[in-house]
Amino acid sequence: MVTVRFAPSPTGYLHVGGARTALFNWLYARNTGGKFILRIEDTDVKRSTQAAAQAILDGMKWLGLDWDEGPYFQQARLHIYQEYAQKLVDEDKAYYCTCSVDELDEQKKQAMNIGRAAGYDGRCRNKGEKQGVLRLKIPEGNTIFHDLFRDRFEFDNSLIGDFILVRSDGTPTYNFTCAVDDGLMDITHVIRGDDHIPNTPKQLLIFSALGFNPPRFGHLPLILGTDKSPLSKRHGAVSVMAYQEQGFLPEAMVNYLALLGWSTTDSQQLFSKEELIKKFSLKRIVKNPAVFDMEKLQWMNGVYIKQANPKELASIVQNCLPQRAQREEKIPVEEIIKLYQGRIRVLPEIYEFGDFFFSSKIHIPEEICHEILSKDGVKEILTETKRVLETLKMFDHSTIEEAIRTMAERLGIKAGDIIHPLRVVLTGKKVSPGIFEVAALLGQERVVQRISDGFVLLQTES
Ligand code: GLU
Repeated sequence: MVTVRFAPSPTGYLHVGGARTALFNWLYARNTGGKFILRIEDTDVKRSTQAAAQAILDGMKWLGLDWDEGPYFQQARLHIYQEYAQKLVDEDKAYYCTCSVDELDEQKKQAMNIGRAAGYDGRCRNKGEKQGVLRLKIPEGNTIFHDLFRDRFEFDNSLIGDFILVRSDGTPTYNFTCAVDDGLMDITHVIRGDDHIPNTPKQLLIFSALGFNPPRFGHLPLILGTDKSPLSKRHGAVSVMAYQEQGFLPEAMVNYLALLGWSTTDSQQLFSKEELIKKFSLKRIVKNPAVFDMEKLQWMNGVYIKQANPKELASIVQNCLPQRAQREEKIPVEEIIKLYQGRIRVLPEIYEFGDFFFSSKIHIPEEICHEILSKDGVKEILTETKRVLETLKMFDHSTIEEAIRTMAERLGIKAGDIIHPLRVVLTGKKVSPGIFEVAALLGQERVVQRISDGFVLLQTES
C-alpha cells in the first residue's frame, strides 16, 4: 500500500511550499487509496513551538487535507530514536566522537588544502569513545537514488563523511529521526521539497545501516515568484492562513497549489478536489521551478467565488473578517455578496465595490457631484424622490422600481433622470449594481437619510 507523509517542522506557519508538499502527498494517497500520515518534526526544541504546530494543523484543516494517522510528535518518540541509536552502536555501525570544534575546523582546512573531501575523516572511528556525538560509520562507495521526478543522483560517500546522528546533549538530528520514522512508519514514497536533496543520501545510508527498506524519493521543484526569485514575502503572503484572512477560498487555494509543478496533458486549469484526486499522478510532476502567480490565483479565486453558495460566502466574510463583520451586524451581507459575486476576485473586495453598504456616511467625489448633481432640476427631482420613497409602505426592489417609474411618467421625465442622481447620493459612484436592489438593501431609513445628505452637498455646491 502507498504510504506517504507530511513531516513539517513547527518553526513557523504553514507556508505555501509546505502546503503544496502536503497537498501532493495527500493527493497521491487519495488517488491510490493509500495512507497519509502527519508527523510533526519538533525535535529542534529551540525553534519549535506549540503555536506553530497548531498553525500547521489549522492550515491543513482549512485546506481540507485530512490525515489517516497522526499527528505524531517526534518529541514523544525520543526513546525510539535512542533505542535505534543504541542498536547502531551495538552493531558497530555508529561510534562516539569527541573531536572539538577547533579540531574539526582544522581537519576541514587541511582536507581542503590538499583538495580532499571535507566530510569528517573518521579519526574517532576506532577509539571506542563512550560519549560525545554519535556518528554513522559510512561505508566507502557511492550512494545512488533515482528521483521520482528527476534524474539519477549519485553521491560520493567520502564527501558526505561520517555525519552526526545524535548530538552530544543526546538530541537526535533531523536526518536520523526522519529516517527512523520513515522506516518504522513503512513510508513508501517520500515527496518533499528539493531543498532536501542533500539529505536524501544521508537518510539512505541510515536506512541501510538500520536494515530498513528505503522508500522512493521525489523532490518537488522550487516555487518562485513571477520575477523568478525564490518565493518570499516580497511576492505576497507566504503563509497559507494569510490567504484565508485575505478572503481566498480553500477550494481555490487547493486548485492553485496543485498546479505548482503538476498539470494534466491538456493543461486543464480548474479542478474540483474530486477531480484532482482522480487525475493526480506522480508521472506529471515536473522538475522545473514552479511560478507562483498572484494574479492567476486571484483570477481562480474569482471563479470559485462566482460558483460558491452566497450563504457560505457570507459566513466566511463574517467569520474571517471579525472586526469589520462586527460593525456590520445588521448589514445583509449575503444579499450584498449576491450583487458582487460575479465580479470580485477576493471576498474583501465587496468592501471596496460596496463600501457604501458598510459605512453610515458616504463620500461623493467632487467631480461626480459636479457632473451629475449640479445639473439643472436635480435638486427638485431628488426632493420628489425623497418624498416618494419616504412614503412607501413596503421597501423591496419591485415596489421601489414601480414608484420611481411612476414618478418619472408623472413628471414626464426619463427614469434615468431620477436613477443617475439617486445612484450618486446612495452610493457615491456613477456605477453600481441595480439601484433598486441597492436601495432595498440599504433600507428606507438610510435611503432617505442619504438623499437628505445629498441636499446638503447641493447647497454647498450652489
Ligand atoms: N521536517 C522537514 C521540514 O520541515 C521535512 C522533512 C521531510 O519531509 O523529510 O523541512
